[in-house]
Amino acid sequence: MNILILGSGGREHALAWAVLQNPKCDKLIVAPGNAGIAQIADCATIDIESGGVVVSFAEENAIDFVIVGPEAPLAAGVADRLREAGILVFGPSAAAAQLEASKSFTKEICDAANAPTAGYGHFTEADAAKAYIRDQGAPIVVKADGLAAGKGVIVAMDEQTALDAIDDMFGGAFGGAGAEVVIEEFMEGEEASLFVLCDGEDILSIGTAQDHKRVGEGDTGLNTGGMGAYSPAPVLSDKIEALAMDQIVRPTMAEMAERGMPFQGVLYVGLMIKDGQPRLVEYNVRFGDPECQVLMMRLGAQVMDLMHAAAQGRLGEAQVNWADDHAITVVMAAKGYPGSYEKGTEIKGLEALPEDSSNMVFHAGTKAESGAVLASGGRVLNVTARGASLQEARDRAYEMVEAIDWPGGFYRRDIGWRAL
Ligand code: ATP
Repeated sequence: MNILILGSGGREHALAWAVLQNPKCDKLIVAPGNAGIAQIADCATIDIESGGVVVSFAEENAIDFVIVGPEAPLAAGVADRLREAGILVFGPSAAAAQLEASKSFTKEICDAANAPTAGYGHFTEADAAKAYIRDQGAPIVVKADGLAAGKGVIVAMDEQTALDAIDDMFGGAFGGAGAEVVIEEFMEGEEASLFVLCDGEDILSIGTAQDHKRVGEGDTGLNTGGMGAYSPAPVLSDKIEALAMDQIVRPTMAEMAERGMPFQGVLYVGLMIKDGQPRLVEYNVRFGDPECQVLMMRLGAQVMDLMHAAAQGRLGEAQVNWADDHAITVVMAAKGYPGSYEKGTEIKGLEALPEDSSNMVFHAGTKAESGAVLASGGRVLNVTARGASLQEARDRAYEMVEAIDWPGGFYRRDIGWRAL
């Protein structure tokens, strides 16, 4: 099978690494890819948010199967264009991608599906939004309705912060994404994520994970794209997973199918867990980054068969072969991230590290220049390891981190603390 993966992050490096282990993969191209991906697959620079461009590229390269990594091409309808052209694709239609691209859409689906989630109001106008905030009081959560790269959510511990957030959003701080606002009840509890594959009808759990969003140790400081993750998430016990499946995931998928927008792809189910009960925080319509890195390390080659089965509507026959293992990924970022940071600093020592089914450095923001590896983004490397226990995986990951010679970078030393 000739496969095309769309995307350029650590997530896509991990997807490519897993797919390449499957003997059914004859050829792999990643677009646009990155320096780490270029070491294992062909990379091509094309506009992955243009359905026309992706379809032509897939046809020219005799691609049999396309795997879409990030949300933007999905929201732009790239999966729809591929399906119309008769090319098999893993990833939802633009209509189904609204589960991530529109928070008010998701809230409305949850209402219809009776899925437990935070109470909310949906507003298109500042005065009504402010009146709702004054009525509800703080803490309260203000969210831009559309995609805002994780930055459109303000968890306000006091009323004034929430009111200011309304002014910012309707003032255009998030462009079109903030033209509508969802205001939610603040939920307490511990967050964890459940990942499920769907083929429009059948659903298959492919694991749980927890990530660390804050830049600082002890989960302090500014929010980031994610500083590390581990799988499985102990807080998401089998019992809570079953509740989340029965009360949230299955009713949502059934509601989507009923509305004529069946979901096909991977659903990232962000949950808040309190007193043994899960409630939905958010859906994403793609793998998380860095959660994907730990899931790929645990699933390995079989994930390609599972994604292929989802794309073909054959998930009912599929099952996951689980090893009793744990995986962890530690993100190495450029000093200064998530604020301004220097680009182009050199990273040494990578070639001496093991690369096998239990140890991998997935690249996020790197570039290769005259034989050297240079940092080219904020989050730069995902040092990932697998072990019989989380402690074993973690020790190995940090051993690799410490062997990397990169004075321009930093990392958190406490990834996995909650689970240990
Ligand atoms: P991302 O994709 O980066 O997770 P997002 O923009 O899709 O972000 P959400 O996931 O909805 O936004 O919210 C981001 C974070 O804010 C959540 O991970 C959670 O920690 C917090 N949060 C969101 N909604 C609530 C809520 N109702 N109660 C408490 N915390 C919340």
